[in-house]
Amino acid sequence: MADSAPPRPVIALPTPTDAVTPEAAGLTLGRRIRHVRTVRGMTLDQLGAAVGSGASQLSLVENGHREPRVSLLQAIAAALEVPVAELLVPEPPTRRAALEVALERAQRSTLYAGLGLPQVRPTKGTPTDALEAIVGLHAELDRRANAAIATPEEARRANTALRRWMRERDNDLPEIEDLAEEALQHGGYVSGALTHRAVARMAEHLGFTLIHVEDLPHSTRTVTDLANGRIYLPPASIPGGHGLRSLALQAIAHRVLGHSTPRSYADFLRQRVEINYFAAACLLPRGAAVAFLTDAKRAKDLAVEDFRDAFGVTHETAAQRMTNLLTTHLDLRLHFLRVGDDGAIYKGYENDGLPLPTDGTGAIEGQLVCRAWPARMAFTRGDRTTEHHQYTDTPAGTYWSSTQTGVAATGGFAISVGVPFGSAKWFRGRETTTRTTSRCPDPACCRTPAPELAERWSPHAWPSAAVHAQILAPLPSGTFPGVDETEVYAFLDRHAHR
Ligand SMILES: [Zn+2]
Repeated sequence: MADSAPPRPVIALPTPTDAVTPEAAGLTLGRRIRHVRTVRGMTLDQLGAAVGSGASQLSLVENGHREPRVSLLQAIAAALEVPVAELLVPEPPTRRAALEVALERAQRSTLYAGLGLPQVRPTKGTPTDALEAIVGLHAELDRRANAAIATPEEARRANTALRRWMRERDNDLPEIEDLAEEALQHGGYVSGALTHRAVARMAEHLGFTLIHVEDLPHSTRTVTDLANGRIYLPPASIPGGHGLRSLALQAIAHRVLGHSTPRSYADFLRQRVEINYFAAACLLPRGAAVAFLTDAKRAKDLAVEDFRDAFGVTHETAAQRMTNLLTTHLDLRLHFLRVGDDGAIYKGYENDGLPLPTDGTGAIEGQLVCRAWPARMAFTRGDRTTEHHQYTDTPAGTYWSSTQTGVAATGGFAISVGVPFGSAKWFRGRETTTRTTSRCPDPACCRTPAPELAERWSPHAWPSAAVHAQILAPLPSGTFPGVDETEVYAFLDRHAHR
């Protein structure tokens, strides 16, 4: 009978963008252990007795909720009479196990969480057909979510990969910190804010002269003439001229970091992250900045505004710099967000588990944050001259944060720095009584309109969407994405003969 049944098409299992997360690897390992144990006819209790561990602990391992220590893994392998390597094979042991792993992964995705549907926990009694069907639907959902993303997709994926890479390093790049400290010595830096004069000396040491010009090409922020050792910058007198040190440092950074012409968009992005990092590491040097932050932590008085003022940088630069230093040097996990007044993320970072909204590619840029989050609550305040402090209860725990609003040419924006509840005690503003509840990505939290309003208005509403130009605009291709090379070469030629 079974032989005459038509062959069932085998659905390709979904391969989510985060398929190689430690969680996914742990789940596969757990399923391989369970498979061998079942084949050997052992119960969890029996295996537990053999390896000196409780059945409940082993159950956590088999379900991928706990990663076993090497010693436990070796004991399990010995008790099951298989080599450790066999348990570590990255594929699930059977089709059934592969389906269970795929289902678990799919249900952990932000895409699925955003649908507000329940988590299915397969048991021994769950038919394999049912699993095939559910996993097949997940695969199709994933495919469609990704297919809907148009041309800037490559850029978004590259950006996401880079953000994850930085997160794995707690946003700390010690090699660049070292290079920055060395360059600062050549500039004669001692303490406090870095002067423009010191930046000029740093450039001189590398063989460059800083030259301020009125006719910089429109598509550039700075232009470097390698042949004649010149870095061209905008005029020193423009409003917001504090950014000039940063621009000069970024231009110097390409030389210090040994950058060559970017080979790909990912390469271009990485270079941009590195030069921004170098500039920040010069403006808020590791030694001086860590000493300042350590004193503030000891006094339980950490505040972005003090850090900003001590080093004469923007609020955003100070906030972002905290993400480089607080985890490695002060043992604090944290998040940073720059959110527009429309609620969309412009930049974000977390290593404290704050559930940032993502699209199908894993990108956070352009995604709307929860209305209960401080970045949005801050805009509802009457007085925005001081930092807004708030506790936010989320499905991942409670976070404390400090938010400052500002206005840029592109509109209002909010800069948030936050930490898990337990770390709030080190920060000024911890005594705030402002507390909100966020259930996002549960759509019922703040995404689903009130039913009575939806009923009244959905037949009559015809909104026209604003486009996040700065986030989604595809960059023109070329050696330096976004740069008008014709204009740059004409500019260099014009100045080289002066
Ligand atoms: Zn919400």
